[in-house]
Amino acid sequence: MSLGELEELIASLGEPKFRAKQIYSWLLRGVWGDAMSNVPKRLRERLEEVAEIRLPKIVKRLDSSLDGTKKYLFELIDGECIESVFMKYEHGNTLCISSQVGCRMGCKFCASTLDGRVRDLTPGEMLGQIIVAQADTAERISNVVMMGIGEPLDNYDNTIKFLRLVSSEQGLNIGLRHISVSSCGLVDKIEMLADEGLPITLSISLHAYDNETRDAIMPINKRFGIDALLSACQGYFEKTGRRISFEYTLIADKNDTEAGAIALAKVLKKYIRSTPHVNLIPLNEVKETSLSTSKNVNKFKDKLISLGINATVRRRLGADINASCGQLRRQKQKENL
Ligand code: SAH
Repeated sequence: MSLGELEELIASLGEPKFRAKQIYSWLLRGVWGDAMSNVPKRLRERLEEVAEIRLPKIVKRLDSSLDGTKKYLFELIDGECIESVFMKYEHGNTLCISSQVGCRMGCKFCASTLDGRVRDLTPGEMLGQIIVAQADTAERISNVVMMGIGEPLDNYDNTIKFLRLVSSEQGLNIGLRHISVSSCGLVDKIEMLADEGLPITLSISLHAYDNETRDAIMPINKRFGIDALLSACQGYFEKTGRRISFEYTLIADKNDTEAGAIALAKVLKKYIRSTPHVNLIPLNEVKETSLSTSKNVNKFKDKLISLGINATVRRRLGADINASCGQLRRQKQKENL
């Protein structure tokens, strides 16, 4: 709920509007029920009857001893599990959140998609991951990346509602410029997103330099090929003025050759007229797949740079806690069998 929606609920109970503000500020700290000490008992009781709060429950937390990264396994109201990762950067604390339970995009290298999608997360469940992580760490989260389990643009309406809630001044007030949405490339949704007026950072998981290579690892490419995707990205930039960054997971013998780097630079320059930024991700090996991580990460990066593409290698955080997406949820599912 936005504050406005809560105010309507409070008004419908015949209570003064300022109570909504009080309650909202408790909710944003993850507190509910009798602990809301400045809310009269009769209103607390009424609220228990007409509303319920659904915060994700921490089932497990893994703490990295290397860099302060914390990985959460959260249980939702219906028993389904999702993951979030808290990371410390110089520019502030970042939470990587999930947008769906599972995923139906089928990328061959990704653990989150192995058993398909179970359901979408509600805007409240996306927000809840931040509220609970913030309360648990007692630290402010200033940046959010939607790079956990799920494809945010496959859960479009809830993602948009979440982005408006999380950035609202009366809410967690996390600036949209501090939020990244990552997508495997749903072109129709990228076009819709360009019209929402949300100055987020859009990241596209490209992972390939031509259709043949991309078809082999990302089924979505059969629906929206690389040319349609990159021209939608250029269109997004023209409409919003926001540059898109490209993620590229390097997989041995699939997409990591020198000729691949040259082809990638060429296709990016063909469509993207601002200097494209490519974030290279060494593959996190998933044991259910036979794919292995590339040995050519630095060579690939240097080649892109020599061709005028701005390329960086993603820093690895939480290496000791298996912090890449989808793996903890799978482990939990197996324990339950
Ligand atoms: N569905 C969205 C967001 C979730 S995945 C998307 O596709 O962008 C976040 C990023 O992690 C994506 O770039 C995804 O391709 C990448 N990724 C998934 N599995 C990975 C793995 N095993 N190793 C490295 N990166 C991976």
